[in-house]
Amino acid sequence: MDHILTQTFSAAFLLALGLSAILRLWLSWRQERFVLSHRDQVPAAFREHISLTAHQRAADYTVAKTRLGRLALGVELALLLTLTWGGGLQALHEFWSAHLEGLYYGMALIASVVVITSLVDLPLDLYRQFRLEARFGFNRMTPALFLSDLAKQTLVSALLGLPLLAAVLSLMDAMGQAWWLYVWLLWMGFNLLVLFAYPLWIAPLFNRFTPLADGEVKARVQALLQRGHFGNRELFVMDGSRRSSHGNAYFTGFGKARRIVFFDTLLERLSPPQVEAVLAHELGHFHHRHIVKRIIGIFTLSLVFLALLGQLLEAPWFYQALGLEQGNTALALVLFALVIPPFTFPLTPLFSALSRRHEFQADAYAAQLAAADDLSAALVKLYEDNAATLTPDPLHSLFYDSHPPAAQRIAHLHTPLHAPPSPA
Ligand SMILES: [Zn+2]
Repeated sequence: MDHILTQTFSAAFLLALGLSAILRLWLSWRQERFVLSHRDQVPAAFREHISLTAHQRAADYTVAKTRLGRLALGVELALLLTLTWGGGLQALHEFWSAHLEGLYYGMALIASVVVITSLVDLPLDLYRQFRLEARFGFNRMTPALFLSDLAKQTLVSALLGLPLLAAVLSLMDAMGQAWWLYVWLLWMGFNLLVLFAYPLWIAPLFNRFTPLADGEVKARVQALLQRGHFGNRELFVMDGSRRSSHGNAYFTGFGKARRIVFFDTLLERLSPPQVEAVLAHELGHFHHRHIVKRIIGIFTLSLVFLALLGQLLEAPWFYQALGLEQGNTALALVLFALVIPPFTFPLTPLFSALSRRHEFQADAYAAQLAAADDLSAALVKLYEDNAATLTPDPLHSLFYDSHPPAAQRIAHLHTPLHAPPSPA
C-alpha cells in the first residue's frame, strides 16, 4: 500500500513540477515576444508623454529581466532536484545526524538548506544588481553596501529566524497530533511582532529615515490626511536612492509604529500634487482595509498548509517519494517548503486578479480624495522612470501582474466608477 502511495506521490510531484515549469517558460517566451514586437511604437495613448527612446528602454529592460527569470528558473529546478531525488537532503541528514541530535540537529539541517539556497542564488543576485540594473542606470549600490546589506540581512534573519525555528521544532515534537495548531498560533504572533518591529527597528538598520521637511508636499499631505479622516501620521523620507533609482511611497506599521514613508527618489521626480495623488492611492488601500484582508488571507492559507503538513508528517511515503529513506520533523518542514510551490503555482492568477482589484479600488479612492489627472500623470512618470513596459503580453499580465497594465489603469481613472444613473 505504502509503495503505491510513494509512487503516486512521486508521479504527482513530477507532473506538477514539469507542468508548472513549462507554463512558466511559455509565459516568459510570450512576454518576450510580445514586448519585442511592440518595441517600435509607443502606444497611442502615451505618445504625448513618453518618447520612443524611453519606450524602447522599457522594452529592453523587460526583456532582459524576463531572460534572467528563465535562467533563475533553471537554477531553481536544478537545486530542487538535487536536494530531493539527487540525494542532497539525505546527505545533509546523514551528516548532521552523525554530529548532532534533537533540536540542534533540526536547526542545523534547516539552516544549512537555507544557507545553500542563498549561496546558489547569490551569483544571480549579484548579476541582477551590478549588471542588469546597472546597465539600465538603476543601480546605485556599491559592492561594499551590497556586502554590508548581506551581512545585516543574515544577522537579522538569524536573530529572528533561529529562535522561531527552535520554538516551531519544539512544538512539533511536544504537542502531539495537534502541533500544527500551536505552530500556527506562534506563526501568527511572530508575524504580528515583525509587522510592529519592522518600521521601528529593522528598516532603520538599512536606511535613514528623516522627518518630511515643511513645504508644499507636507502641507498637501497633511490636508489630504485631514480630508480622509486619517488623523495625524508621522511622515518620513527614506534614502532609497542609496540603492536604486526606483521610486515608491508606502504606509507601514500599526499602533504606535504607524507611519508614512516616501522614497527620496519619488519626491525628486514628482510634483507635489502628484506626490499627493500617489499617497491618496496608498491611503485607498488602507481605507479599503486591503492590508488587513491580505493578512487574514495569508493566515488562513498558512493554517490550511500546516494542517496538511500535520497529515504528511507521519506518512512514510511523503519522504520516500521525495528521495529520502525516512523522515522527521525537520525534514518534513524542508520537504514541504520545497514541494508546495509547484502545486500552488496554478493559483497565481487568482491572487494576481485579487491584487489588481485592490489596485483599481485604491485608484478610485485616490481619484475621489485627490485628482485623477495628477495620479495618471504620476503613473506615466513612474512607468517611464522605472522602465516598466506599457505593452506587456496580456496573458502574462493576467497571470502575474499585481498591478493592472498602465493603459487599463489610466483608462479606469478617467471613467467614473459610480456614474450617476442616466435619465434614459
Ligand atoms: Zn496600490
